Formats: sequence, structure tokens, C-alpha cells
Amino acid sequence: MTPGTAVEATVADRFRELYGHAPEGVWAAPGRVNLIGEYTDFNDGFVMPLALPHTAVAAVSRRTDGQLRVHSADTDQGLIQLDVEALEPLSDTGWAAYPAGVVWALREAGHAVTGADVHLASTVPTGAGLSSSAALEVVTALALNDLYGLRLTGEELAVLAQRAENAFVGVPCGVMDQMASACCVEGHALYLDTRDLAHRQVPFDLAACGLRLLVVDTRVKHALGDGAYAERRAGCEAGARALGVRTLRDVDHVRLPDALRQLSDETVRSYVRHVVSDNHRVERTIALLDAGEIRAVGPVLTEGHASLRDDLRVSCPELDLVVAAANEAGALGARMTGGGFGGSAIVLTEADTAQTVTKAVEAAFAAAGYTAPRVFPAVPSAGARRVA
Ligand code: ADP
Ligand code: MG
Repeated sequence: MTPGTAVEATVADRFRELYGHAPEGVWAAPGRVNLIGEYTDFNDGFVMPLALPHTAVAAVSRRTDGQLRVHSADTDQGLIQLDVEALEPLSDTGWAAYPAGVVWALREAGHAVTGADVHLASTVPTGAGLSSSAALEVVTALALNDLYGLRLTGEELAVLAQRAENAFVGVPCGVMDQMASACCVEGHALYLDTRDLAHRQVPFDLAACGLRLLVVDTRVKHALGDGAYAERRAGCEAGARALGVRTLRDVDHVRLPDALRQLSDETVRSYVRHVVSDNHRVERTIALLDAGEIRAVGPVLTEGHASLRDDLRVSCPELDLVVAAANEAGALGARMTGGGFGGSAIVLTEADTAQTVTKAVEAAFAAAGYTAPRVFPAVPSAGARRVA
């Protein structure tokens, strides 16, 4: 029996209890961590996420009466019932907005989705920068795709899921999270060009190389993060306008010193420096992985952290402490991942130093009086799939 089987059976059993009939199927979609390329996706840039073993698992059946019923094992909000024809963007339906947004986006795109019963449970930590929201959207999208015979590709489902989050839930995220959840492959990282969604599976077999990628969930979320994303986004757009390019993706890193000289606003200049240099760090990482030099990726991660901390200014003391303590304890490199202001960091380390590094980070947190972090290995896992 595979480890996932028990979860699938539990989710299907609970579905039966709730709805009085068996689900037509069970699907799973993972959360993700981003290896490198942060705040690049809304600049048409490059990113490199990998899927986590943590998944949202959903048991789903079709309905033909225009009703959408959703239930989550992870909230105490009970069964939520919505009329699919009456779905309105930004209508504040709480967590149900994620699956409802997917139904809305599918219907907006002309797909005749006439309702569904959904029960789900997720092992993706929420609000930790590991994309529990994308897992929720993508698992719903894939289930409806299969049940309604829509024959949409992983990319198409990811774009619809992003539309659900942007337009229906009202969160202005890029497409990386949904692409990672929909399209990742076990043992690989996903090299994604967010301009045209071209992507390539890059072998990233940490275990075979005696390496480990740790995720350190700081378990903090600073309120500062709320407006920061929009502010960074506006700053990057201002930078692109001042440089006369469509997006910062169009600024090659060799032209960066030149570009920086053209910018008078110090804040915009530092945002541009981050985005252009982080795009280049993705390309450097790809080259290293293609050359089989995984260990050399470590310092690139640490460099990326410094850029997020000093130029984009989206880090926080807890994230900085993870990176400093891990590197001091002998890690190969580390950086914050995701939106910042809390959430998670990643640490690349030799497998046999992983324990030492973990202990050092935990000790540093204890000494600083912070809540104990949650540390687990990021095993590059499969993207969304049908599991029963
Ligand atoms: P992240 O995607 O980084 O985890 P978000 O704020 O984007 O953080 O998404 C978290 C939100 O997604 C939660 O507040 C909740 O509304 C929804 N969510 C995620 N997982 C679940 C779940 N298992 N059950 C219900 N809602 C969930
Ligand atoms: Mg999210």
C-alpha cells in the first residue's frame, strides 16, 4: 500500500458520509516550493518550482442541477452550497471561493460544468508560502476536467486556476503556483518561462546525489506583506516603463548596469536589480543542473536571498535567521521562497549534514525567542493526478 492510499480512502469515505453516495473519483494536487526565480513571474520572467509530497486530495462527483457543494476536512465551516449560475467574482465566500472560482472560470471559458459535490482534505500547510491555494484550485480543475471530459492540458488548467484566484478570489498571483501544481514531474524541477508558459522538466534527483532540500516554515506571516506585493509589482512596472521595455524580462543581465544608470528612482532601481539578477540566477541554476553540478546551486540560492532581502526588501528577521543559521552550520546555500514577510525558506544541504543544519536553525529560533519552525525535506514530487 502506498502512503497516499489511506488519505484517498479517508477522503472517499467522508465524501460518502456527507453526500450519501460514492464519489466518481479522487484526485490529488501538490503544493510547491520555488527553487529560484522570485517575484519574476509577473515580469514575464523565469521560475523553477518543484512539487511537494504534500497534496490537496479531493473526492468529486458531478451534479446536473446547477449546484456546487463543497466541504473541507480542514475547516469547521461545514458544507457550503452555491448556485453555479449565480457565482459572482469577489463575493467573499471564504475558502469556498477557490473551488467555486475554478467552476466559474471553467464556465466563463465556455465549458458546461453543471455542478459538483466536492469533499477535500489537504496536507499542504496553509499560508506558509507553499501554495495550498493553488493545490486546492488545481485539484478541483483536474477533477472537473476529467469528469466533464473537457480534455484541457495541464497548462490550460493552470491558467484557468490562476484566473480563478486573480479574478474570482481577488488575489493578484502569477501563474507559477498553478503551473507547478498542475505540471510538475517526480524527481524534477520545472523550468518555466512565464511569458509563454514554455517549460522543461529538469532532473533534480537530490537523493541520488546525497543531497537534501529542506523547507523551513517559519510559521510567521507579517501583516506588512499584504500591500507589499502590489507595491513591488507597481515598482517593477514603473521600471519597465522607464526603460522602454514591455516587462523587466526584456532587460538582459549584461545590460543591467546600463539600465540601472537610466533609472533615477532608488526604489525602482533596486527592484529592477533584483528581478533582472534573479532571472539570471534561474538561468545559472539551469546551466548548473544540466551540467550535473547541483552543489554549486547552493551559493546561487544564498545570493538570491541577499537580493530579496536588500534590493526587493521582502524578507523578515525570521527568514534571514534561517539562512544565516543554516549556512553557518554548513549548508550549501539557503534563501527565502515565495512571497516573503514570513512563510518558508529553503536550505540545500548534504544529506548527512541535514540533521546538524536543522538543529542549528531550531536552536537559533529558540535563542531568538521565535516560535519553533517546522522543518521537512522537499522531495521533488508528482504534479496533479487522478488517484482513485
Ligand atoms: P498559500 O497558498 O501560500 O498556502 P494563500 O493565502 O494563498 O496561502 O491560501 C491559503 C487559503 O487557501 C486559506 O486561507 C484557505 O482559504 C484556502 N485553503 C487552503 N487549503 C485549504 C483546505 N485544506 N481547506 C480549506 N481551505 C483551504
Ligand atoms: Mg496561495
